[in-house]
Amino acid sequence: MKNYRKELWFNVPTRRAFVNITPQVEECLRESGIREGLVLVNAMHITASVFINDDESGLHHDYDVWLEKLAPHEPVSQYRHNVGEDNADAHMKRQIMGREVVVAVTDGELDFGTWEQIFYGEFDGRRKKRALVKIIGE
Ligand code: ZN
Repeated sequence: MKNYRKELWFNVPTRRAFVNITPQVEECLRESGIREGLVLVNAMHITASVFINDDESGLHHDYDVWLEKLAPHEPVSQYRHNVGEDNADAHMKRQIMGREVVVAVTDGELDFGTWEQIFYGEFDGRRKKRALVKIIGE
């Protein structure tokens, strides 16, 4: 069995953003040479997510509005976590959007369902953060 590991780095200039990382994950898969197996992609921070959904800007706007209703950033004083920091909402947004995804690799390709793409979800950006790509198979 082969294995492959790479960290993808981000420095999102805004507090929140969704970044389509499918091309980077496909590049990792090519580098790995693995034709059959599994890809795991996970955020390496507890204020960011990796998730799969549609690359559609209206939907991404809707996610942002929905997440702000569930866990508004302001007022930051509403959260007990925000003693010396202001990112309690980002922890909650990450929790509901998820830590990681697993995608099957079939015949050297990501074996996606219709319209599926992989996203890095940033909820406390404006600093360097990373996601892990781990691929196992043969
Ligand atoms: Zn925190």
